[in-house]
Amino acid sequence: MLKGLSFEVFPPNTTTGVSKLMTTLPKLKALEPEFISVTCSNGTNQVAETTVKVASYIHQELHIPTIAHLPATYLTKREVDDVLQQLNQLGIDQVLALRGDILPNMVPKEDFKYASELASYIKNHSPNIQLSGACYPEIHPESGSRVADVQNLKKKVDAGCEKLISQLFLDNDVFYQFQEACALADIQAPIIAGIMPIVNRKQALRLIKTTQTKLPRKFLAILEKYEHNPQALREAGLAYAVDQIVDLVTQDVAGVHLYTMNDAQVAQHVVANTKSLFSCQLAKVV
Ligand code: FAD
Repeated sequence: MLKGLSFEVFPPNTTTGVSKLMTTLPKLKALEPEFISVTCSNGTNQVAETTVKVASYIHQELHIPTIAHLPATYLTKREVDDVLQQLNQLGIDQVLALRGDILPNMVPKEDFKYASELASYIKNHSPNIQLSGACYPEIHPESGSRVADVQNLKKKVDAGCEKLISQLFLDNDVFYQFQEACALADIQAPIIAGIMPIVNRKQALRLIKTTQTKLPRKFLAILEKYEHNPQALREAGLAYAVDQIVDLVTQDVAGVHLYTMNDAQVAQHVVANTKSLFSCQLAKVV
């Protein structure tokens, strides 16, 4: 197992997507990740048919530890209980406790206003569940300030989140500054760095449009030069992600969580170019 390297996949909503995921997952298993997390669409109320189903396959068929994402702003306590019961029956004992985005035209249910409330509810009702939480090196978009955001993050950790998985970022210095802010706030949970290789133009444009991710000069230059050359953009995007990971592992990051976008080749490329670094981490721990 490559300690310190984990993957994220998402449950597809098309039959083509499902068959792609079914060929991707065994390939991800071959890369020996520490765990694979499974996202969950907020507000659809189909956790059982999507996230739980994929997590169950990963846990029961592939025998890889899995984390089920659980955004709860549109769930009631009873619905959360149902999901926890399903996970318990399947032997899945890890949950990423999330609030989820507030969607336009959908009024949140009242049971879980923040992720920390969900974390504390799960801790009290299902103490066997290991909880993780999301964190934002560039501050959560709704947050007024870094100080307030980190104080809120501390509440999430105090409510029971044992590890934190970060939003993607493209500038490692932003991540290191965030780590320092967390240390100053006495947040001691390990912070796993979320890395998303940007491998096509559509993904790059979505990133620019929908997130507040800081785009470093080096990254913008890649986009500008190769935006109409898909192969070159893919290679440069992968090389950029590998470069980020080399730096993070060298700086003893607690872990790297790769947003695979269900693309096995992306994960294979990253692992082929960083595997011995993770093995060194393991050798150091042992
Ligand atoms: P929270 O931790 O509740 O924070 C939300 C906002 O409220 C922040 O601005 C925070 O500072 C503030 N806040 C928190 N607590 C308090 C408090 N007590 N008082 C006042 N303000 C407070 N979304 C999905 O829909 N499905 C997924 O599978 C998914 N997976 C994700 C995985 C990762 C690793 C990350 C980083 C994000 C993921 N998201 C997912 C997106 C996430 O749901 C959104 O970013 C959402 O807007 C915030 O969720 P949260 O759990 O971080 O919220």
